Amino acid sequence: MSQLVIDLGKITANTRAVVDSCRSRGLEVWGVTKALLGCPRVGAAMLRGGVAGLADSRLANIERLHQTLGPAAMMLLRLPSPSQAQQTVALAAVSLNSEPATLDLLDRAAREGGGTHRVILMVDLGDRREGVLPADVEGLAGDVAHRRSLELVGIGANFACYGGVMPSPDNLTELVDLARQVRRVTGLELPVVSGGNSSSMRLVEEGTMPEGVTQLRVGEAILLGREPSTGRPVIGADADAFRLAVEVIEVKRRPSLPRGQTARDAFGREPRFEDRGERLRALGALGMQDLGAGSISPEAPGVEVLGASSDHLILDVTETGSAVRVGDHLWFRPNYGALLALATCPHVERHYLGDAPGMGR
Ligand SMILES: *Cc1c(COP(=O)(O)O)cnc(C)c1O
Repeated sequence: MSQLVIDLGKITANTRAVVDSCRSRGLEVWGVTKALLGCPRVGAAMLRGGVAGLADSRLANIERLHQTLGPAAMMLLRLPSPSQAQQTVALAAVSLNSEPATLDLLDRAAREGGGTHRVILMVDLGDRREGVLPADVEGLAGDVAHRRSLELVGIGANFACYGGVMPSPDNLTELVDLARQVRRVTGLELPVVSGGNSSSMRLVEEGTMPEGVTQLRVGEAILLGREPSTGRPVIGADADAFRLAVEVIEVKRRPSLPRGQTARDAFGREPRFEDRGERLRALGALGMQDLGAGSISPEAPGVEVLGASSDHLILDVTETGSAVRVGDHLWFRPNYGALLALATCPHVERHYLGDAPGMGR
């Protein structure tokens, strides 16, 4: 069986590295757990590393984190679904928002629950996923400021998710300026200026993060020790907190070219092949079902991933220095997409290193 090995000590150390870099620039870090279905062990590892709270895009994950970790502060990253306004208020201390109708429901739910709900307004600074356009921030902020059971704590932006737009001193200065403007018109303190995800770490490390940005929401940089849009390593972070062991179920020499008339493969793609003669091939017990849209890189030199069908990983092992045998496990590093799929796949066993006591399942 394939196994995902999760080193919690490395996740804590990576968190600490990110938190320290950010703290020296005046930023707090929220640890993002969505790639792991809100895994409480990973959440706990991030909390040990010093994050201000945990952030996830799904309420079910936040609920799971609460069940094990108690009342740690949780942020809902995806805009709340109107149908889940009540649960949002009950489970998340703070949520990211842009829709007046949803804010209305959150306000009502918070009032009914006898409390208040904290809100960060999202601004679209060019990546074109969520958020109001800069010109509309002031209006919406004024609207939220008047609601009795909502507490407007800040504004935020997201980058490098849909449009591939990188955070920059320019667009983040725009965010800081917008926050200043909102403070002026609402009279609120607005302590939170949430300047993006892992892709913003580059600015922190280069010392170009504009003053006045106070928060980042960080997943990949902590989990994989990499800055996602460029693949650059994060300073002080380890890249192998997650390792995947794939069991080999066949090893045989075979021609590199198919024989017979070819059409589309199992996923509707038209495969192309290069004639490299006869090669030593291994099949791994892992496939598209486990990997989703992600990819994995072999740790051992000479192992090459040729492709995958739903349940098989097709490897060229001709150039490996040592023999590969049936029953061996080959090691890989997942990228973020693969991690997301592997963590949700019931066929992949998870093995934790460096767990804290009392964590349950
Ligand atoms: C997923 C997400 C993040 C974290 O992204 P990473 O690249 O993993 O750091 C931050 N903010 C929002 C709104 C997200 O959806």
